Amino acid sequence: MQMIYMDRVAAAALRPEAIEAMTAFLHDKVGNPSAHIHSAGIAAADYIETARKQVADLIDAPADELIFTSGATESNNLAIKGFLATKTGGEVLVSEVEHYSILDQSRNPFLANFKFLPLDVDRHGIIDPDQLKKKITSETVLVSIQIANPEIGTIQPIEKIAEICLASGVPFHTDATAALGYVPIVIRDSGISMMTLSSQTIGGPMGVGGLYIDKPLRLRPIFDGGNQEMGLRPGTENVAGIVGFGAACRGAGHDLSEKSARLASLGKKLWRGLESGIEHVEFTGHPEQRLPGHVSFWHRFIEGESLLLHLNMKGVMAASGSACSSNLKGADERDLRASHVLTAVDVPEEYCSGSISFSLDYSNNEHEIEYVIKIMPEIVRRLEAMSPVYEDYVKQRENRE
Ligand code: PMP
Repeated sequence: MQMIYMDRVAAAALRPEAIEAMTAFLHDKVGNPSAHIHSAGIAAADYIETARKQVADLIDAPADELIFTSGATESNNLAIKGFLATKTGGEVLVSEVEHYSILDQSRNPFLANFKFLPLDVDRHGIIDPDQLKKKITSETVLVSIQIANPEIGTIQPIEKIAEICLASGVPFHTDATAALGYVPIVIRDSGISMMTLSSQTIGGPMGVGGLYIDKPLRLRPIFDGGNQEMGLRPGTENVAGIVGFGAACRGAGHDLSEKSARLASLGKKLWRGLESGIEHVEFTGHPEQRLPGHVSFWHRFIEGESLLLHLNMKGVMAASGSACSSNLKGADERDLRASHVLTAVDVPEEYCSGSISFSLDYSNNEHEIEYVIKIMPEIVRRLEAMSPVYEDYVKQRENRE
C-alpha cells in the first residue's frame, strides 16, 4: 500500500538536504560548540554559524539577530516572557487563534501584572487591522499575531499589522511556524520585532526552532545558566538538529515561489475534488489568503477522527482539527473540547469534531491528490451510513419530500 503523508503542519517529510547535512555532521568529529579553545569545538561552532546564516537568509534577516531554540513552543515563550520580563506591567494583544504556547501564558502567575487581550478573527480567520489599531492604547506593550494558522490555513495581513505596530511604537511578535518556507517572508524593513521559527514544518528535524529578535529589542533569557545563543538561550545547542534546520531552510528557499505555486495548485485540485465528490462539507479558513497546499473542512455527520482512521487504513495521513492532543499523557479537559480555532471562526461546537485538514509539503504529488479524491467519497459514505445523526437527517429529508 502506498503511504501518503499530508500533515506537514505537524511535521513535514524530512528533506533530503537535511538528512545529508546531518549525516555529514554526525560523521564529523566535533566537540562542544562552546569549547572555543580547541579545533573540535570551533568546528561545531562553525556548523552552527553556517546554519544560522541559512535560516536567516530564508527570512532575509541578519544572521546575528537569530538564535536557536528547541522549537516553536520555546521560541514563543522566550519572545513573550523574555520581553515582558523587561517591563513592569501592561497589555498584550494576541489573536484568539494563536497556538497554546502563546495563549496559555496569560494564565502564568509570573505574568500576573500583564493583561492578555484577545483580538477577534472573522469567519475566515482573519484579523481586521482596524480592530488592532483601535485596541492599541498607551498600555499596550506587545502584540503577537501568527502569520498563518496550521488548522485552517488562513494567512494574516501581516505587513499591514506590522505597519500599525511600528507606527504605534509597539513591538510586534509573529509566530511563523506554519508559514516558514511556504510563503515568502522578508524581515528586513518589515517592522516585525520578533519571529518564531520551527524546523520540522519545513522538513528539518523535530525539536529545533529559532527566534528572530530585532537588534534594538532587549529580552531576558527565560532559562539561567549559560551564555550560549547570544546570552539568550543557555545550554549546549542541538548542533545536529540545527545543521538539519539550516539545510532544510536552504532547500526550502530554493525556487520558493515556483514550489509554492505548485503546492497551491495541488491544494486547489484537492479542494475542488473534495467539494465535488462529497456532500455535507464546509471548508474552513480563507479561500484565497491561505497556506499553499492546505485544505481544511468539517463534515456535518461524521467524526473527524473516524475519517482519519479510515484514511490511515488506506495509507493517507492527515490531521483532525479537534482533540488533537487527546492522546497525550497529561491531556486535560480542554484537549477534549472543540478546537479554539474552529469555534473562533464560528464552526458550531457540535460540528468541530468533524474537522479535518490536509497540509501538503514538497514531497506530495498529483497522483497522491487523485488517490485521496478517489477514496474519500467511499469512506465518507461508509461513515455516514454508521452515523445516527445522518440517519435522522435522511429521515427528515424524506418526510419533507
Ligand atoms: N506554533 C504553531 C503555530 C504551531 O502549529 C505549533 C505546533 N506545531 C507550535 C507553535 C508549537 O510547536 P512545537 O510543538 O514544535 O514546539
